[in-house]
Amino acid sequence: MRVLLIGSGGREHALAWKIAASPLLTKFYAAPGNPGIGHEAELVTLDIADHAAVARFCTEKKIDLVVVGPEGPLVAGIADDLRAENIRVFGPSRAAARLEGSKGFTKDLCAKYAIPTAAYGRFGDLASARAYVEKIGAPIVIKADGLAAGKGVTVAMNLAEALAALDACFDGSFGQAGAEVVVEEFLTGEEASFFCLCDGVTALPFGTAQDHKRLSDGDVGPNTGGMGAYSPAPVMTPEMIDRTMREIVEPTMRGMAELGAPFSGVLFAGLMISGEGPKLIEYNTRFGDPECQVLMMRLKDDLLVLLNAAADGQLAHTSVRWRDEAALTVVMAARGYPGTPEKGSVIRGVEQAAGDGVEIFHAGTAIDNDSLVANGGRVLGVTATGGTVGEAQRRAYAALDRIDWPQGFCRRDIGWQAVAREQAR
Ligand code: AMP
Repeated sequence: MRVLLIGSGGREHALAWKIAASPLLTKFYAAPGNPGIGHEAELVTLDIADHAAVARFCTEKKIDLVVVGPEGPLVAGIADDLRAENIRVFGPSRAAARLEGSKGFTKDLCAKYAIPTAAYGRFGDLASARAYVEKIGAPIVIKADGLAAGKGVTVAMNLAEALAALDACFDGSFGQAGAEVVVEEFLTGEEASFFCLCDGVTALPFGTAQDHKRLSDGDVGPNTGGMGAYSPAPVMTPEMIDRTMREIVEPTMRGMAELGAPFSGVLFAGLMISGEGPKLIEYNTRFGDPECQVLMMRLKDDLLVLLNAAADGQLAHTSVRWRDEAALTVVMAARGYPGTPEKGSVIRGVEQAAGDGVEIFHAGTAIDNDSLVANGGRVLGVTATGGTVGEAQRRAYAALDRIDWPQGFCRRDIGWQAVAREQAR
């Protein structure tokens, strides 16, 4: 099979690493990729936003499957535009990617199909949003409707914070994404990420994870794209997975099909688990990053076989096997992240730190004068497996400490809740 992978983050490096291990693969391209992905695939310079150019490349290179990593191109309709040229794609259509691209769309779907989620209101103007927030009171959650690179959500613990968040949405801080706002009830419980591979009809459970969004140890500080993750999520017991499938994922698949937008690709449910069971916080329509890194380390099966089955509507007869091990990723970020990261510092020792169940996935890296340098906010994902989360954590930090990059930083407590649970047993 000839495969094109789209994207350039740690998520895509993990996908590339797993796809490259498939005996089905004959030729592998990635656009735009990064130096880590460059070890697995031939990097090509393509403007991802120019779908016609991507389609021409696929036709010319006889690509059998395009795998789309990030949400931006999906919400922009890259899967539709490639399928219109008879190119096979793993990823949802523009209409199906609304599950991520519009929070209001997803909330309305939940309401229609009785999917458990936070109570909410949708507003297109400041005055009615303010009136609703003042009526409900804090704590309350304010969300820009559209894609806002993870920055459009404010969990407001008091009214002033909530009103300031509304002002930010309506004064254009999030561009078009904030033209409409969803205001939600504040949920409590333990968060977990739950993934499914979907083919339009069937959703196949595809692993669980927990991530650390906050910048600093103890889960404090500003939100980031994710400073680390581990899999599996202890809170996602087999019973909780069954309930999530029955109460959340299956009605979503039915609802999307009824709307004429059957969902295929990765359905990533962000969940809040409480005594009442699972509630949907949000959907993403692609793998999480770094969650994808831990999932790929645990996946026993051939990823390409599974992505093919999803693209062909064949998941009903497919199963997935996982290694009976935990995996944990620690993200190394460049100084300045999540603000403006410093670029260009030299990173040494990455290849020596990997091996023996440790993979180092590249995100914002580049090659400059034959040296590996930082070229983004989140730069490396140091990922290890172990018999327990604690062991995976020890191995990940041991590898990370062998990397020579004084300008990088990381959290030192990734996986702390799971490790504390293990120690209490
Ligand atoms: P989202 O981008 O929708 O996942 O929101 C980002 C983060 O905000 C989530 O991971 C949660 O920690 C938090 N959050 C979002 N919605 C709620 C809610 N209704 N109640 C409590 N926390 C929330």
